[in-house]
Amino acid sequence: MPVHFVYNFSREILSLLGGYTVPKYNLVTSDIISRLEQIVGSKNITTDPEKLELYSHDEESDTQYHKMPEVVLFPETAQQVSQILKLANSELIPVVPRAAGTGLACAAVPIHGGIVLSVEKMNKILEVNTDSMYMVVEPGVRTDDIQAAATAAGLFYAGDPCSGDSCFIGGNVATNAGGNRAVKYGTTRQQVYELEMVTAQGDIVNLGGRLAKNSTGYNLEQLIIGSEGTLGVITKVTLKLAPQPKEVIDLLGIFPDVDAAIGIVPKLIKAGVTPTSVEFMDNDTVKSVEHFLNEKLPHSDRGHYVLIQVEGINEEDLEDKSVSIDELCNENGAIEVLVGDPSKVWKWRKSYLEAARHECLIMAKEDMVVPVDKIPEVMRVATQLNAKYGVQTRVAAHAGDGNVHLTILKGSIPDAEWEKTIYDYHHEVYKAVYAMGGKLSGEHGIGYKRKKLMHEFTNPVELAMMQAIKKALDPNLILNPGKIFDVE
Ligand SMILES: Cc1cc2nc3c(=O)[nH]c(=O)nc-3n(C[C@H](O)[C@H](O)[C@H](O)COP(=O)(O)OP(=O)(O)OC[C@H]3O[C@@H](n4cnc5c(N)ncnc54)[C@H](O)[C@@H]3O)c2cc1C
Repeated sequence: MPVHFVYNFSREILSLLGGYTVPKYNLVTSDIISRLEQIVGSKNITTDPEKLELYSHDEESDTQYHKMPEVVLFPETAQQVSQILKLANSELIPVVPRAAGTGLACAAVPIHGGIVLSVEKMNKILEVNTDSMYMVVEPGVRTDDIQAAATAAGLFYAGDPCSGDSCFIGGNVATNAGGNRAVKYGTTRQQVYELEMVTAQGDIVNLGGRLAKNSTGYNLEQLIIGSEGTLGVITKVTLKLAPQPKEVIDLLGIFPDVDAAIGIVPKLIKAGVTPTSVEFMDNDTVKSVEHFLNEKLPHSDRGHYVLIQVEGINEEDLEDKSVSIDELCNENGAIEVLVGDPSKVWKWRKSYLEAARHECLIMAKEDMVVPVDKIPEVMRVATQLNAKYGVQTRVAAHAGDGNVHLTILKGSIPDAEWEKTIYDYHHEVYKAVYAMGGKLSGEHGIGYKRKKLMHEFTNPVELAMMQAIKKALDPNLILNPGKIFDVE
């Protein structure tokens, strides 16, 4: 079988973006291909360039971040994953775990070539236990299918990234995906009881347990969650399920300014309403979505939206909470508070990225997280920087957890100037974000795209601790190399 190896990245770009020397990995020779084929079978391996192309990128459309793998494998069992990693570790070949490829940080892109290990054929729901409220799944199960299986069993899976119709649970765990219900239920890490994973050396290990508490040494399953495929390959997940919410309502508060809109978040929490979601869209984003969907949105001329979802134990409880939310929004100067048709209001919220893409294909998609009360300050900094650099932004935020998706559009900035513009913009905005006590990523991860910023903004001692963990668990640096941070 021929081996296709295409370098899209020059060493200069790699060192500009990552600032390190490319490690010396071995190529995937025809002999290695035969050995891999023996492990997974001929139907579960490809070197066909057309198929490889599908695995050369995630949702980032900028082709400077695309890179072809040498081979893609589709193992069906943890034992096959183990054998692949044993071989790759002894032959010094990079392995990039991949779920659905909906990531936004280029974390599943094989920047050093080598093997892409797709978990798409490990896609079974192994157990739904209704009495003890848990579900055991393989990593290639779609998140929406997990929600549907929980619902069918009369239960509820709380993880709910906006990409749920396409992303897989393995990717959610590896990125610690957030989403729309994190205010009440937490991010993916709060949904996980136990993981089965394969180490870089090929050992299969179970981490965590179906336990309500655990002080037995280091909390390793939580270390693996959010490690973006750099510490192990997740092959099975035991997820927590919850009782189904009895009553749910979506309220749309429309505000004349950002401070009033975001100011509602701490008030809701203090009032004990415990919303499931508090989502924000600034007025430019409301207009962008309106144009994209070709649908009239309420008060789109000046309204900033706050979409609040709340659950009740019965109709009366829901009614009480709705009244409280309505009062709080009106006290905070809302133009109007509407009961939202979920199929409409969530479509508006979930369409913002596509709408922005419709305006401009080249953009920087930020995922910063700040203390909730600092969101208006982020918006003020962005407004100043937009004027300084001549760019436009669209802002959608998981406002209830301080996670701001600032989308910076290239617009009419000349190609030759865009990289420098965005470099300078990033530098200034993250300086401000870190001064507010914020961080680079709330849910999408660092991947390859934010690695330079990770080096720049992370405390050196903290970074050294992370690098020491990586070196201890993957001394040959074969697992998703060049992601999150560099290791000398
Ligand atoms: C329209 C849109 C909306 C989105 N909304 C949200 C949102 O609301 N919240 C949110 O958090 N994200 C969101 N995302 C980003 C993305 O969907 C999430 O990061 C998601 O968790 C990625 O899952 P995936 O299956 O696509 O993983 P991939 O993109 O394939 O991989 C992501 C990372 O996980 C690693 N990985 C994958 N599988 C494994 C495994 N089995 N073992 C070890 N490592 C593994 C990969 O190496 C990579 O580092 C959105 C993306 C889009 C395009």
